[in-house]
Amino acid sequence: MSHIIVVGGGHAAAQICASLIEAGQGERVVLVSDEAYVPYQRPPLSKSYLKEPEPAPAWIRADSFYTGKGVALRLSSRAMRIDRQACQLHLADGTTLPYEQLVLATGTRARTLPGLEGMGANVHTLRTLDDAARLRQQSQQAEHVLVVGGGFIGLEIAATMALQGKRVTLLESAPRLLARSVSPEVSQFLLAHHRSRGVDIRLDACIERFEGDEQGVKQVWLNGEALPVDMVIVGIGAVPNEELASDAGLLCENGIVVDENMRTSDPQILAIGDCTAFPSHILGRRLRLESIQNANDQARCAAATLLGQTQAYRALPWFWSDQGEVRLQIVGLAQPHHQRVLRGQMHDGKFSVLYFDGEVLAAVESINSPSDHMAARKLVAAGQAVPAEQAQDVSVPLKTFEA
Ligand code: FAD
Repeated sequence: MSHIIVVGGGHAAAQICASLIEAGQGERVVLVSDEAYVPYQRPPLSKSYLKEPEPAPAWIRADSFYTGKGVALRLSSRAMRIDRQACQLHLADGTTLPYEQLVLATGTRARTLPGLEGMGANVHTLRTLDDAARLRQQSQQAEHVLVVGGGFIGLEIAATMALQGKRVTLLESAPRLLARSVSPEVSQFLLAHHRSRGVDIRLDACIERFEGDEQGVKQVWLNGEALPVDMVIVGIGAVPNEELASDAGLLCENGIVVDENMRTSDPQILAIGDCTAFPSHILGRRLRLESIQNANDQARCAAATLLGQTQAYRALPWFWSDQGEVRLQIVGLAQPHHQRVLRGQMHDGKFSVLYFDGEVLAAVESINSPSDHMAARKLVAAGQAVPAEQAQDVSVPLKTFEA
């Protein structure tokens, strides 16, 4: 039987297995993951998993979902090398697996911070269930928590820790939070919100040095001030796991380069999810996205390619981030030339920022406004013109403008 090998144990891998099982192709699939578990939901790891008294992993599907349909699971198995000429995948335990089609769903790994070498005992990044378990356990004894990075994961963890009564300091080197991802209005709202919940946020933060020993970091020096630290969580972004692909000679540029059908520069090898640099039909250039939506939709697109039902990837990007009591939802890709219009009042803790490309609604960021988000998904997908002045009025539901 001709095999489809999927490398990765995350959201994209889970979805492509599900799509292939649905198409009756489960028996052709081998899932190779270096994690010890079947794929699980990552978003709760920075949210509910850190605060619930006895958290359980949220499996995307049970083991039996895969094995019952013939998928061979090779867990705790790291893929080391692709031999493209022989169409073989070499694993760390010395096994060689033949493939007809190979799907790389290797995701990303957390970026690390120079200056923390040798002080690892209380320094954390968060990507996997094992990372979350370690972080959760150590946080129980910690009073002073230092979060480095004001991105989505840093803010989610800071909010969760503050709700647990920890003294949380968050350092962001940019002049505003989430500067590359959201509007100044949303940054400003989140800054005020997290500060009101006790998170000590320092913008434009310039770390001078960490002090500590092999037991871990004890304090951090910042603009001439020393802050006490019981644990450090580094949330400064992620880098794509592209080495397997680049070592095999596949084109990589901040991600494994794929075409609109998820094929890499070798047509027998596809790539999906956080690890890909794909052609964005919205931006007209290559883009790498880190989101559940993108992982799932690219997996569906790749499954269609493998099944000979090729369809170009045209999914609308959407994303969410839960930060304590705040739910931020984003749809579309905001661009510098878009006009921003505020819908609702920031001080109500519930508003949306609408981005217009001419008269067309192109992207929307919503704070605690799920109905705006759901309507925006339809409007943005339809590329619909929306009257900006009327859309500012929160008494008019956004869905009124659906054609
Ligand atoms: P991943 O889920 O990262 O999976 C990659 C897998 O490949 C991993 O299992 C990895 O161990 C494995 N792997 C890598 N290399 C090899 C190899 N050589 N051999 C074998 N296996 C290998 N997104 C949202 O939209 N909303 C959220 O609220 C949100 N919250 C998040 C919170 C946290 C803490 C994290 C870490 C991420 C969050 N994300 C969120 C992002 C989301 O989880 C990712 O976009 C998604 O997991 C991407 O799926 P993926 O399958 O591409 O990669």
